[in-house]
Amino acid sequence: MKAPPLSNFIGGRWVPSTGSRTIDVHNPATGQTIARTPLSGGADVAAAVAAATAAFPGWSETPPVVRARTMFTFKALLESHAEGIARIVTTEHGKTLDESRSSVRRAIECVEVACGAPSMLMGDALENVWAGIDCTSMRQPIGVCAAIAPFNFPAMVPLWFLPFAVVSGNTFVLKPSEQVPLSQQKMFELLEQCDLPPGVVNLVHGQREVSEAICDHPGIRAVSFVGSTAVARAVYQRATHAGKRVQALGGAKNFIVVMPDADLERAIPIISESFYGCAGERCLAGSILVPVGPVHAEARDRLVEFARTMKVGNGMEAGVDMGPVISAAHRDRVLGYVERGAAEGARLVLDGRTRTMSTDGYFVGPSIFDAVTPAMTIGRDEIFGPVAAICPVERLEDVFRLMEAHPNANATSIFTSSGKTAREFAHRATASMVGVNIGVASPMAYFPFGGARDSFFGDLKVHGRDAFEFYTDKKVTISRWF
Ligand code: NAD
Repeated sequence: MKAPPLSNFIGGRWVPSTGSRTIDVHNPATGQTIARTPLSGGADVAAAVAAATAAFPGWSETPPVVRARTMFTFKALLESHAEGIARIVTTEHGKTLDESRSSVRRAIECVEVACGAPSMLMGDALENVWAGIDCTSMRQPIGVCAAIAPFNFPAMVPLWFLPFAVVSGNTFVLKPSEQVPLSQQKMFELLEQCDLPPGVVNLVHGQREVSEAICDHPGIRAVSFVGSTAVARAVYQRATHAGKRVQALGGAKNFIVVMPDADLERAIPIISESFYGCAGERCLAGSILVPVGPVHAEARDRLVEFARTMKVGNGMEAGVDMGPVISAAHRDRVLGYVERGAAEGARLVLDGRTRTMSTDGYFVGPSIFDAVTPAMTIGRDEIFGPVAAICPVERLEDVFRLMEAHPNANATSIFTSSGKTAREFAHRATASMVGVNIGVASPMAYFPFGGARDSFFGDLKVHGRDAFEFYTDKKVTISRWF
């Protein structure tokens, strides 16, 4: 018997979607259907916005310290349910249980930072800006805010937004990815226990139709988006055209640079984790390995040896290094890139296709191409799977040319033992998240997160101080008393 479709959470109640269509949610390790996502539409978004609009006056007037307490409660609930949420993440997404646990930890850290709202929301004051005249500025919430999330971090990415929006006094509508709705279903069950008035947080399941209704709805003041570049650009254009404040995080093609003076013994396991962690489905994952000068052959051979021994399997099982990719369609897309790379003349030095397991799960083994050029499809497109492209260059200057030529600029890393080289790299890299001897340059929740160029559309980035800027308007009062 088919499972009933998941419900939306609107105005403090679980309600059925008005949409009659659903799509199946699969466990990518087994191919089994584990839930059905309802494909909601404009009417569901309108109902959520109406509930959020009704909740806004009361919630925005609630003292920040009281709002913060709801997030302290949320944080405590997340801690006690962390293992269960991690298991949901692995079941619906496929990443290993350890990877899921880390992602839940990073989600909780966002809530922790949001708990500092009373301090973070403070404004400025200056007396005697002119004789007897004082000036203050304060932050005020902006209204109903919404976020549209991708599939690759089902628990974490929505919490880049929700806690910061809510604690700043806004009300909120979330659209999770239709491929991984269950982690947020659980989050909202926990949010139900946090003394939030009805309508402060709302959940609407669906696909493109929900995103577009969010972009268009005149009652929504701000939209946060995370996903592929094409959709990020479209959402940015559509929602800004409708007069909203927007931050839209897009796709990536991240360069991992290895200098001849790198400590390869330590670097290779870290680099391998960057390329193959979460089966390559990370916006911060390494995509192109750039060995500089004579280190090329040794870096390649060591990476091949390391990746060859990785255990691919069900992320729920102990000892598995890499789980499946998200869907059968995505597996076929990744395998298509491997075929394309070979056809375009890159040298396939590790063929992940031979590790594609004969189960119903969506497994792809780690692949490595050498002699990749920026003109090749695999040197240009975001593959979002366990495929490494090696693009050797002669000198550091060539690295900057490669980066300049690529439209994406999310994250990048360098492996070196030279402080001078590292400093120059951090200064000149086009990407705005830079790692030095770090494989995944992921800013913590108290720093801004987001890329540049076609990896980011907007001004204010995600979490940290930027989140409080994004979710508030600054009001300045200039006073003279006679
Ligand atoms: P996606 O763009 O396919 O979907 C993202 C969200 O947009 C989903 O909720 C989806 O339902 C919705 N959507 C899909 N098509 C739409 C359309 N035409 N109009 C409006 N909404 C639409 O992305 P995905 O496959 O879920 O996630 C993977 C992508 O996300 C990768 O490109 C990855 O790099 C990117 N990503 C970026 C970051 C970052 O910080 N820059 C973080 C995580 C993921």
